[in-house]
Amino acid sequence: MCGVFGVYGHKEAAALTQLGLYSLQHRGQESAGIVAIDENGRGRVSRAMGLVSEGFADAEMAALLGPIAIGHTRYSTAGSSTIENAQPILARVRRGHIALAHNGNLTNAVELRRELEEEGAIFSSTMDSEVIVHRIARAQSESPEGRVAEALAGVEGAYCLLVVLDETIVVARDPHGWRPLVMGRLADSVVFASETCALDIVGATIEREIQPGEIVAIDRQGMRSIRALPSAPINRCVFEHVYFARPDSKVFGGSVDRSRRALGRQLARECPAPGAQVVFAVPDSSNSAALGFAEESGLPYELALIRNHYVGRTFIQPTQSGRDAKVKVKYNPVREIIEGKRVVMVDDSIVRGTTTRGLVSLVRGAGAREVHMRVSSAPIISSCYYGIDTPRREELIAAQMTHDELTRHLGVDSLGYLSIGGMLSAMPDGPEGYCHACFSGRYPTAIPSEPELLRAGSAAGVSVGL
Ligand code: SF4
Repeated sequence: MCGVFGVYGHKEAAALTQLGLYSLQHRGQESAGIVAIDENGRGRVSRAMGLVSEGFADAEMAALLGPIAIGHTRYSTAGSSTIENAQPILARVRRGHIALAHNGNLTNAVELRRELEEEGAIFSSTMDSEVIVHRIARAQSESPEGRVAEALAGVEGAYCLLVVLDETIVVARDPHGWRPLVMGRLADSVVFASETCALDIVGATIEREIQPGEIVAIDRQGMRSIRALPSAPINRCVFEHVYFARPDSKVFGGSVDRSRRALGRQLARECPAPGAQVVFAVPDSSNSAALGFAEESGLPYELALIRNHYVGRTFIQPTQSGRDAKVKVKYNPVREIIEGKRVVMVDDSIVRGTTTRGLVSLVRGAGAREVHMRVSSAPIISSCYYGIDTPRREELIAAQMTHDELTRHLGVDSLGYLSIGGMLSAMPDGPEGYCHACFSGRYPTAIPSEPELLRAGSAAGVSVGL
């Protein structure tokens, strides 16, 4: 998963983009980058591994001049976490330059790349996004938006794209609409972002979502919207609302906080915990769902687990002193809340189960009398090929164990998952138009023919769970 942010028509476009990227840090922590285009159409790029706060030296930011900028935060699988794979891509081509920032995963990238390589194309990264750059470079259409549309014909999978072709910004969202993309206004400037929280930080107002299948171009001639991509059923990612997006964002037109609370309330209806005395969240992504559970069940909501926010992803377990060590670095229980109580611990999802098992052990160690695990999504049983890099099915604990086995494995007194129907009913606009393939195994499109190759060249995946 990644975050994308772009500005058209502001003299401090790069500085605004850096701010926007701070708000999209949760969508990717492995690298960050900004491309800016100056008044003379010259493009400059700054990209660095790590967090936005670490990535841009003052001198580099000062050099990112011009009224157009796009930025990217990236999260990938470990193997492809290199500076070559950081975005935005900036490529010089015959007719000028192409800059591109991509959120999503293309499902036919392996085939498209092979085709291009057979025709002599040379790639400088292992990202699927680079395929799109090559295709744009070869497109013959006159208009910038026409070139992007031509390049995207035959590209399958998930993409929200910010592209700069010379002095035009072109944004595109795939016809299924898996990932969110919004447009905002800041005085006379136009701003694009993966989530509305990034519009808030720069003081932009939300104008509207970029629609699935829509391509929007902005340049000196004005704004144009075209519908040149084949239409497809809408399959917005339900996991954005369950886990991924920030609760202060509106995603797919609805508040993430509201949908998470609705997930928690529905969970309390479907899987109550009679006799429990207190509810708490696995912070931070489960906070709103745990609040919803507490509201519905009438139980007190407590902050019983404290998360250390300063643990980087690169943390290496200093000793081999047991499976709990990694969890302990990240979380600590508040004994005074837990001791002697029958507790409900709410999490948004269970992936490999390692973290949950460690947390249950911590909570028991803090004196909990009973631990009732409640999960505000359905069991994850299948891999995602649309931009969230869930592990292979063999590593997904709910795909490998029965409910009873998993209850014992996690060490809880009871385990309750939300049903798929219950999960979808909590979405802001009702249950229709959502992808739930990782929960149901029902993929809305053909899955990649060579998923391991795709994974190795993954552009925009986020690993979920420890
Ligand atoms: Fe989202 Fe799951 Fe669909 Fe992937 S498979 S897009 S994570 S709902």
